[in-house]
Amino acid sequence: MDMNENKRRRSMLLYILIALIAYLAISQTLGTNLTARQVQDVSYTEFLTMVDQDQVKKVDLNTGDNTLTFTTGEGESEKIYETTMWPGDSTLIERLDEHNVDADANIPDTSGDMWLMLLISYGLPILIFLGIGWWLNRRMKKAMGDDGPSMNFGGGGFGMGGGLGKSNAKEIKGEETGVTFKDVAGQDEAKESLQEIVSFLKNPEKYNEIGARCPRGALLVGPPGTGKTLLAKAVAGEAGVTFFQIAGSAFVEMFVGRGAAKVRDLFKQASEKAPCIVFIDEIDAVGKRRDSSLSSNDEREQTLNQLLSEMDGFDNHKGIVVLAATNRPETLDQALLRPGRFDRRIPVELPDLAGREAILKIHADDVKMERGIDLGVVARSTPGASGADLANIINEAALRAVRFGRNRVTQEDLLESVDVVIAGEKKKSTVLSQHEKEVVSYHETGHAIVAAMQKGSAPVSKITIVPRTSGALGFTMQVEEDEHFLTTRQEAKDKIAVLCGGRAAEELIFNEMTTGASNDIEKATQLARAMVTQYGMSEKFGMVQLGQPASRYLGGGSQLTCSEGTAQEIDAEVQRLVEEGHQTALRTLRENRFKLHEIAHYLQKKETITGEEFMNILTRDDGFAPKMPKPPAE
Ligand code: ADP
Ligand code: MG
Ligand code: ZN
Repeated sequence: MDMNENKRRRSMLLYILIALIAYLAISQTLGTNLTARQVQDVSYTEFLTMVDQDQVKKVDLNTGDNTLTFTTGEGESEKIYETTMWPGDSTLIERLDEHNVDADANIPDTSGDMWLMLLISYGLPILIFLGIGWWLNRRMKKAMGDDGPSMNFGGGGFGMGGGLGKSNAKEIKGEETGVTFKDVAGQDEAKESLQEIVSFLKNPEKYNEIGARCPRGALLVGPPGTGKTLLAKAVAGEAGVTFFQIAGSAFVEMFVGRGAAKVRDLFKQASEKAPCIVFIDEIDAVGKRRDSSLSSNDEREQTLNQLLSEMDGFDNHKGIVVLAATNRPETLDQALLRPGRFDRRIPVELPDLAGREAILKIHADDVKMERGIDLGVVARSTPGASGADLANIINEAALRAVRFGRNRVTQEDLLESVDVVIAGEKKKSTVLSQHEKEVVSYHETGHAIVAAMQKGSAPVSKITIVPRTSGALGFTMQVEEDEHFLTTRQEAKDKIAVLCGGRAAEELIFNEMTTGASNDIEKATQLARAMVTQYGMSEKFGMVQLGQPASRYLGGGSQLTCSEGTAQEIDAEVQRLVEEGHQTALRTLRENRFKLHEIAHYLQKKETITGEEFMNILTRDDGFAPKMPKPPAE
């Protein structure tokens, strides 16, 4: 857009003005300074005496301030004096004439002086003030996130410069987004909902004719990286209409009223380009619920109000559709969600198994792969991964292939990059001592054996003790055979036991504890707490909601919704659940301690072992066959 141009013009203007003022100010002081060189002040009577003695050669009268500047002597011996004229001395000119003094009157242009004075005394401070304001504005915008305090410099008067209220929206022609529904894997329900918008944008008249009112706005909600931005672009691509993209945070300005101006500008542009899509990404930055708290943010509320009224006001016969995306729908202002605004809410969830495989396929098409690659394995080992994670896995695999000088991606590249995305790169610089390596081996084997012995646990697919950049010194990967969407209470308990397996092994074998279990402890506690407060899975409280997830899509714990006394009891209950898992793990490992030794030693030697190798040793009947092993998964 012409934003840069505008900015450059504005700052040019500023520089020219400053230079001009500086020039005038300097020339003014220089002017007086020139005459002031070695000027001697004398009294008026002294001056008259000097005239009478024929010493004075030349007199300059400045009628502006009644000063007389006069010179005596010639050449080298010339001296300059100054004095103030006696008011109303009408005889002076005769006396000067009498003594042949060269007299000259200097009538200053007082009107010009006044302007200069005004400019210097008012203009300069104003300019400096504006300059500082401008600079502050830029700095703060850079330094601040979306939620800073708003500051009001005299009603935002600085916004006059033009171009400041511009929306900054990125405008893309529909065909040029380069994305259609074909590029979005899975998300069939979302696509279906959006299909109607596509057909409306392609053909608004058809809808107008029958009197149907198409949705003005749709809100895409879901966790980060699930393809919300991608879907919005795809709608524009499908319909072939202009796509205005702007981030919600771009509206939140330092100056009250400017965000609102941007909103106005955006909708003005949009109505010129209709049919089109206005896409506001991460709308929670502006759309946060207005509250009555004292620390409310004027600027954001004004911007939100403007957005609400624009959405009510625009003529949607022309075919403008506002799409917005957020991963914090619970924070949005209710007014945004009422019919006529974002009346359609489209969930964009994390992909399921089939979805993950489809996303992998789409991205795999862009890279050269060996034949017979099994993307299903990758999909199965990445539950909970978002589309962005999966795209990243494919890319990491391609990078790895290049690093090894191959021109095709292999299955191994893919599996290795799954580890990289889950746990970080291998960290070669971390060298564990022999003892530490032993502890980590037992720790990971502990997890694996407890997992194998629990009915509700997913089979182990890999155990490794290679340190990773994420800080993990090793990990045990479990891969679900098929996806399931419900977790039973027993499965949750088993999971806690598996998480406790690492620490339990350390205690059992070394009679010692290490810090290596901190991540396990965190996860186990979180799960136990959710069982008690959200899933109603504790005997003690039963089906009572005691906490609310703080943010559905961003994870991050829950907020308790109970009394203080209950909170204490919850803590006790959580502790009991985790301890129960800990005891289960200890018991399981005690019963299988020979297998624990054997597998841990094997792991220490090989560093990475597959699930099959693990199960082979575990189920081999050598007199120490595991107690009650789970039937090996097919
Ligand atoms: P969000 O806006 O939900 O945070 P994005 O739309 O920015 O996520 O997705 C990031 C990237 O992840 C996309 O550019 C795309 O490469 C990939 N991706 C995410 N979801 C999908 C999907 N369903 N199909 C194909 N690629 C996807
Ligand atoms: Mg996005
Ligand atoms: Zn562990």
